[in-house]
Amino acid sequence: MINPIIAQSTISCPVCGHSKKETMPTNACQWFYECESCHAPLKPKKGDCCVYCSYGDVPCPPIQEDKACCSSTEENHQV
Ligand SMILES: [Zn+2]
Repeated sequence: MINPIIAQSTISCPVCGHSKKETMPTNACQWFYECESCHAPLKPKKGDCCVYCSYGDVPCPPIQEDKACCSSTEENHQV
């Protein structure tokens, strides 16, 4: 089974509830997202690698590919 990588995720702002479809970068993680409605700065929740994993309806492409994404090494265990 081959699952096509979905490059678009609808990200929902936890502050105001605004949601918008965004295109995710396929080769990097997005750590920061500013809600276009309330301008709240969104950052990934603890344990998530990017804002799409935390707030999007589709996780980021590396996660879809079952890769370790950007949180693979030393950053993992630091607070
Ligand atoms: Zn918002």
